[in-house]
Amino acid sequence: MKAEAAAPRETAGLRRPPSPGAGDVGRLVLALDLGASRVRAAAVAADGSLLARHQLATPVTEGPEAVLGACVEALRAAREELERSAPALAGGLAAIGVAAPGPLDPWRGVVVDPPNLGPTFREIPLGERIEAALGLPAYVERDTNVAALAEGAFGAARAARDYLYLTVSTGLGGAIVSEGHLVLGPDGTAGELGHLPVELDGPPCGCGGRGHLEAIASGVAVARAARRAVERGESPELERLAAEHGLGGLDARRVAEAETAGDPAATAIMARARHAFAAVCVGLVDVFNPELIVVGGSLARAQGERWLAPARESVARHAFRIPARRARIVPAALGDDVGLVGATVLVRQRAADDRWRGGRPPIHAAISAA
Ligand SMILES: [Zn+2]
Repeated sequence: MKAEAAAPRETAGLRRPPSPGAGDVGRLVLALDLGASRVRAAAVAADGSLLARHQLATPVTEGPEAVLGACVEALRAAREELERSAPALAGGLAAIGVAAPGPLDPWRGVVVDPPNLGPTFREIPLGERIEAALGLPAYVERDTNVAALAEGAFGAARAARDYLYLTVSTGLGGAIVSEGHLVLGPDGTAGELGHLPVELDGPPCGCGGRGHLEAIASGVAVARAARRAVERGESPELERLAAEHGLGGLDARRVAEAETAGDPAATAIMARARHAFAAVCVGLVDVFNPELIVVGGSLARAQGERWLAPARESVARHAFRIPARRARIVPAALGDDVGLVGATVLVRQRAADDRWRGGRPPIHAAISAA
């Protein structure tokens, strides 16, 4: 920390590390990507390059304290590695950017109740705990939002100011970027594009809703539809794969393989997933008039043009003429590191904005529990 930095200020009874000064913004930041299976940390340069990476398994079954401990351990290990390998750079660390599963409250840095971090991971003050342990200000944001910022700064949306990001993997996440900034809403929960309803009486969604895009077009949804086809005896090829890999091993990748092998039931499941995705893209183009829809995630990546082409055709055919002419649907350019790389953009945008140090703006008063 620089000697001339301001004294820590009191915020809601909590002594917080001082904000980075304007000169610090754009320097090296520490990044943390908290996922259900891995906790990853690194130092990220202003150009998005990663140094001093460190990774741990996420101890989900050991409870929230163990998960918080792993986050702190990964960050400390990354910082120590940087101090060893590039001591001149380590002194310039200005802040920490954190990507974590939603829903979360970015104003308070609190992870609310993510579905995949265990039943007791509720209302966890991740930002506060990291700030206290590392002595640097921490900015916490939903992982998909951080990925969208990374694509905007270094990836497929580099030339865009208004774009949407969709990630199609086990789940289906989204983010909205307008004028280069995330659309958050007063509670920070905006952008959950995977939970747009596409079928009123469709299958149940992991969020408790029904017929959402995620319930039809995500990896989990495809696997569930395949299991049902096996149980109903509708698909010899899926039955064969289930016998070989177990019903639990019948994931989206294997369903896609069965489609390639010509299995009609697998083809119907994958076609329905692509159709639902395409229909949502039409709605998104009409509603947001985006320059780009950037599509990431392992399922979309594995499908490639097979996934994107029907969405482009649907937009060209069914969306309003003017936004349809503008919008391009493109694959994400950044891979697995997107949650780490985006931390530098998150810190750059938030460290310069005092609202993020003082908590939720008054016009966005927290909803009372009463
Ligand atoms: Zn849902």
